[in-house]
Amino acid sequence: MNPVVVGAGAAGLATAIFAARRNPGREILLIDSARKIGAKILVSGGGRCNVTNEVVAPADFRGGSSNVVRRVLNSFPVEKTVSFFREIGVALHAEPPEGKLFPDTNRARTVLDALVTEAERRGVRLVTEFPVREVRRRDEGFELVGPDRTIFARTVVLATGGRSLPKTGSDGTGYRLAQSLGHTTIPTTPALEPLMLEGDFHAALTGISQEAEVVVRVESEKPFRARGSLLWTHLGASGPAVLDASRVWRRARLEGRPVTVCANLLPGDDFESADRRLLGLTGEQPRAMLRNALAALLPARVAQAVLDRLKIEGEMQMAQLPRESRRTLVRALLDWPLPVRDGRGWNYAEVTAGGVPLGEINPATMASRKCPGLHLVGEILDVDGRIGGFNFQWAWSSGWVAGQAI
Ligand SMILES: Cc1cc2nc3c(=O)[nH]c(=O)nc-3n(C[C@H](O)[C@H](O)[C@H](O)COP(=O)(O)OP(=O)(O)OC[C@H]3O[C@@H](n4cnc5c(N)ncnc54)[C@H](O)[C@@H]3O)c2cc1C
Repeated sequence: MNPVVVGAGAAGLATAIFAARRNPGREILLIDSARKIGAKILVSGGGRCNVTNEVVAPADFRGGSSNVVRRVLNSFPVEKTVSFFREIGVALHAEPPEGKLFPDTNRARTVLDALVTEAERRGVRLVTEFPVREVRRRDEGFELVGPDRTIFARTVVLATGGRSLPKTGSDGTGYRLAQSLGHTTIPTTPALEPLMLEGDFHAALTGISQEAEVVVRVESEKPFRARGSLLWTHLGASGPAVLDASRVWRRARLEGRPVTVCANLLPGDDFESADRRLLGLTGEQPRAMLRNALAALLPARVAQAVLDRLKIEGEMQMAQLPRESRRTLVRALLDWPLPVRDGRGWNYAEVTAGGVPLGEINPATMASRKCPGLHLVGEILDVDGRIGGFNFQWAWSSGWVAGQAI
């Protein structure tokens, strides 16, 4: 009986490849419910696959213990990821300012094909269209029950992912399997998802992207701040800053805690500096129309929409803008409410928050502390990274650790 990896996504492929490299000649079985594997890798990073980031640290992740995250990341850090991909023929390049690493081809297909080729070259046996419905413990190992047959395994690695984008095969079955083997699960919610907003402010701005700092305030907690692009959409807001913030909003809602979301549309400014900038614009171009002058600070259509909402005349000359209106405008730009109606849910979320607690695995081996012979890797665990390649790095690192151990 050979080790069996359940789930041929990023973490499962990594586990199988590293296990096969470590144990040449030993057959590793990699099974997946999908007919074609790697759907999520193919859609990732807008079809370009953001493989990792120049700098990856525990602070880039949320969920369970950062000590566990640190240990796993240290076992297989970014440099090893870059070397590994170079070895299998995928050169990566970093893109400023966030330091995201993409394949030089800018095609996710390159990443998937290289992983599959390496798995085949190392003798990993891929079994597709095998949805594991049940895992039964036996004296000598496990029985993996599929729709029309059973596979036996001495060691099982659960790499079944989370619940995001369920049509790719990651439908949450893995949590049930883990629970049936003695694990608990932290309630799951979508993370890195676009937000739907009340009202119609956003709709007229659809397609406009701007730099912003999204701030989530949860009762009695330090406000969460995410700076980056904010993209206005017909339903609300998206873009990296919003996706990162969505997780905090979701968890607060799950816990029933009062939460508000707003955006600083002049990121980096506080009241004094923003007010000074507006006064500066007045000094430089006293006859300029307010709405045109504001376009130096944020997209013109957003500036106009803000003025409309505040009922401040955009055609007014800068020199005529009353002090109180200027201060009202500054306050609004620094704290623009994003009244969240809901998140867009699992079909639009990039990742899952919650899952199997990190305390239930041994970070030196990814072995279950609840069920001997079982290992868990990737998104099924209670850890989720911010946007920027961190979730894949978790998949590669945890896959490497399990691959050495099995
Ligand atoms: C649109 C989108 C874009 C993304 N872009 C990026 C990015 O650029 N960079 C980044 O770092 N992260 C990105 N992510 C997140 C990243 O894709 C995931 O965190 C990562 O793929 C998780 O890897 P995994 O192997 O743990 O799970 P998955 O990739 O979800 O793989 C799990 C596999 O298990 C299989 N499976 C599930 N249950 C069973 C079962 N019962 N029996 C058999 N097989 C089963 C599934 O079919 C699937 O193939 C993105 C996610 C999405 C949705």
